[in-house]
Amino acid sequence: MTQCPECEAKVERHDKVLGEVFPCPDCGTELEVFGTTPFAVQPAPKEAEDWGE
Ligand SMILES: [Zn+2]
Repeated sequence: MTQCPECEAKVERHDKVLGEVFPCPDCGTELEVFGTTPFAVQPAPKEAEDWGE
């Protein structure tokens, strides 16, 4: 388990894999898995990805 770099909410690994991007369950910030042993996340780079609607 690690913490969201934005809001410090606990983020659990579950079955996430390296490079996976997922939203923080608490603040919604997009997080990217950059380490699995130990589990670590960083804010996902803002790309020109059309995910909003
Ligand atoms: Zn958060």
